[in-house]
Amino acid sequence: MTSFLKFAKLCKKVECVSGTLEKIDLVAGFLAELDESELYVAPGFIMGTVFSSGSDLVMGVGPSILYEALARACGCPPEQISSMLRATGDPGLVAAGVVQRRKPLGLASFIGGEQLSISEVYQRFLAVAHASGKRSHDTKIKNLQFLFSQASPLEAQYIARLAIEDMRIGVGEGGVRDAISKAFGASAEDVERAYNLTNDMGLVAVSAKRGTLSELNIILNHPIKMMLAQLGEGIPAALQELGTAAMEWKYDGARVQIHKDGQKVRIFSRRLENVTASLPEIVSAVKANIRAKSAILDGEAVAIGQDERPMAFQEILKRFRRKYNVEKLAVQIPLRLFLFDLIYLDGKSIIDRPLRDRRALLETIADPSMLAKQVLSNSSEVAEEIYRQALDAGHEGLMLKNPSSVYAPGKRGKNWLKIKPVMETLDLVVIGAKWGEGRRASLLGSYRLGCLEPETGMLLDVGWVATGLTDEALSDLTEVFKGLIVVERGMELELKPAVIFEVAYEEIQKSPNYSSGYALRFPRLVAVRDDKSIEEADTIERVIALYKAQRGRNTAS
Ligand code: AMP
Repeated sequence: MTSFLKFAKLCKKVECVSGTLEKIDLVAGFLAELDESELYVAPGFIMGTVFSSGSDLVMGVGPSILYEALARACGCPPEQISSMLRATGDPGLVAAGVVQRRKPLGLASFIGGEQLSISEVYQRFLAVAHASGKRSHDTKIKNLQFLFSQASPLEAQYIARLAIEDMRIGVGEGGVRDAISKAFGASAEDVERAYNLTNDMGLVAVSAKRGTLSELNIILNHPIKMMLAQLGEGIPAALQELGTAAMEWKYDGARVQIHKDGQKVRIFSRRLENVTASLPEIVSAVKANIRAKSAILDGEAVAIGQDERPMAFQEILKRFRRKYNVEKLAVQIPLRLFLFDLIYLDGKSIIDRPLRDRRALLETIADPSMLAKQVLSNSSEVAEEIYRQALDAGHEGLMLKNPSSVYAPGKRGKNWLKIKPVMETLDLVVIGAKWGEGRRASLLGSYRLGCLEPETGMLLDVGWVATGLTDEALSDLTEVFKGLIVVERGMELELKPAVIFEVAYEEIQKSPNYSSGYALRFPRLVAVRDDKSIEEADTIERVIALYKAQRGRNTAS
């Protein structure tokens, strides 16, 4: 039985080394020594996802539960915890600090201070995840309290981070995959394939240890990584690449993967979360209109407004997030399903069959009203026409797919090309920032952006940009911004407005979360505009004008 302390020591070491290869070596060495039951659990612990998405288990621990458990376990006043949090910005360090000062009469001293094992910590997390009903808050706290009362400061640091599923040791999915392949001598491709199919890193690790990776396949009721699309460089170039293409609208909705197992239906979101309970009309539609004993279907859920146009993305998100009073919201934001792929049918995976065949099978089992329209053609004119129709109808653009391609879970490649309008960039002022995580902990990783309100001179925030930056660029920027810090609150900084970022994005959405009332979807830094002064930043009026120009879609607000 491996102690949790050994795991915590590994995490500390991994957190302290900066090289990715070194991190992977450390993790591989650790995994190689575990027995099978621990190996089911440890890869998820390392990534900070305690339960795989297929398991349906959710930890459901926020900072308040965590700090209450800590306070109770260690007899530490909540105010002290809050002030430690302000000073460090890291729940793990707070937990270590609190446990360090724990009064000696902890539970541990009564039961002989036995060491926690990895399995025991997992069992407690299971109890936390299973807690439901009126007493669930209390049950969660009691189980965490038990762990903290037994833990050393170092163990507490990682128990706290695991409880809120934020490990900050700089090893993600890719790192754990590489470590598994190294630990058990399996090829990186086999490990990746197995993970994309099962989405369960514990299962992959155990199969790699047994040498049975190739036996892993799609499991009905467990989400599979979705196949993704690459941005095409216009219709002519895309058709040159594909020849004859399967042409479909790029619907403006949210991805859904639907598992039908007899009369049982489960729906997973793009992030592979189980969203079945939030989407009852899709469950009924699948039950009524899919003629198959078992199937895994891929498609887009679209919120259709009264004018038959798609509502804004954030309206759909409301539906996906809603857990209570779902039926009421379903009346305001009704969803329609457009299916475009079939992954599994009547007990068999069909991912290795060409799209052409998968589509033909989909047509045999699905009611035509649920299908994404598809045209097979090599003509630019036909593609242009479908693209124009999609945009006119308020959708995002066009998908061009290779009819001979297999379904490649988790892959973004040239077999699915998306064509959509290019947005103008915005010049926005950097008004805040956040420290990065793991390997990037000493760098400012994301930046809060503001647009100008000319009448008042105020800067109204429109969201955060984090992508589009290399480590080198981040390091240079961090140096620049260190001199501009106004207030530091935990991980977050308020900055003196001085720097302009030119930012590209996919869309502007209305958002109650930002003072401008708008948010950029998928913002990306294009350039630091040293040549521009704050007064030259884009205004809230321009943000609104660009928002309105977005194909005049229904915003349902
Ligand atoms: P993007 O989110 O821009 O990378 O575009 C890919 C997304 O477009 C997919 O994940 C789907 O949610 C969505 N989509 C809409 N219509 C289709 C379609 N006909 N085929 C595939 N994906 C589609």
